[in-house]
Amino acid sequence: MISVEYENVVIEIEEQVIKVIQNMRQDGPTNNESGGMLIGSILTDNNDIVIRDYTLPQKGDYQSRYRFIRKKKSHNTLLQKKWEESNKTVMYLGEWHTHPEMAPHYSQQDIRNWKKLLNKSNTFSDYLVFIIGGINFYKVWIGCRKKGDIVLVYKGAYNENI
Ligand SMILES: [Zn+2]
Repeated sequence: MISVEYENVVIEIEEQVIKVIQNMRQDGPTNNESGGMLIGSILTDNNDIVIRDYTLPQKGDYQSRYRFIRKKKSHNTLLQKKWEESNKTVMYLGEWHTHPEMAPHYSQQDIRNWKKLLNKSNTFSDYLVFIIGGINFYKVWIGCRKKGDIVLVYKGAYNENI
């Protein structure tokens, strides 16, 4: 699990989420970008955010070497199902996708999309988490919905032993 402190919250990302991104990283010459939602809960006692679930690419998503576009409907249906199965404790907390570069950088398209999501997402969290999985490293950005800013908070190497 990785744990990042940002302003007055702690964001925890469980290992299985990093693992799924690791499994979909674009380490071959023909792998396309993958992506999906990040899903988790806000702990009631301290407002900490725990990301423990995700959606995988769905039929109808656009996947190419340098582009992933998530179709809303299929991922929202999965989110709704996970929400009901968790007794309404999990929620949408952000996005993940892969890039075909060693250490990922966000594109202008990514930042535009993330800002749009900060403005428009229907979720209880004041913060959204954005992960880009590169080939050797992944990076985590936190976006604040109140202030609208997006900050890089973590760069990690994949754990090859799991
Ligand atoms: Zn991107």
